[in-house]
Amino acid sequence: MSERAASGERVRLIKGDITKLAVAAIVNAANSSLLGGGGVDGAIHRAAGPELLAECRTLGGCPPGEARLTRGYRLRAAHVIHTVGPVWEGGGARESQILESCYRSSLEIAKRERFREIAFPAIATGVYGFPKEEAARIALAAVRSHLAREEWPRRVLFTCFDEETLSAYRQALAGAPQPP
Ligand code: ADP
Repeated sequence: MSERAASGERVRLIKGDITKLAVAAIVNAANSSLLGGGGVDGAIHRAAGPELLAECRTLGGCPPGEARLTRGYRLRAAHVIHTVGPVWEGGGARESQILESCYRSSLEIAKRERFREIAFPAIATGVYGFPKEEAARIALAAVRSHLAREEWPRRVLFTCFDEETLSAYRQALAGAPQPP
């Protein structure tokens, strides 16, 4: 299922499993070790196979708000962009800025690599506990601001694993000002 977001062809909401998508890159909500974990991270590593962990071991981790690129191995996606979200500590520990930086850093890699289409999960909204609606607003604003300036990636998919996440994105889209 795919919905066209109000900003037109370049942003879409999808309900489903990010590991199934045949895009240039899927984004992983990793932890700073980059050595795998639960949630979407575990699902991506299971689907990609052990070669992904082997490549991640060579990277030496990643600080919150930054992103690293690997190949996709057994995934249908050719690449994985691993980014590390903030652990929610109540909102006073720069969580919003770190989350925004996750989206910006991932989009910068997609721009540099000229990836046509990339897919994000709802970074930090699972085990890391970031409130879903605020996270959706931050994600949408960061993506729109990048796409307004840049040609690459051509398209961004927000992959919503559950109804609650989908509804948070729908609300963010409804509340956000439309670009000209
Ligand atoms: P974090 O540790 O950054 O909070 P989680 O993996 O716990 O990461 O959760 C991030 C989001 O990813 C949550 O909305 C969760 O429901 C979602 N998620 C979990 N598995 C998948 C999947 N296979 N595809 C897409 N999203 C997923």
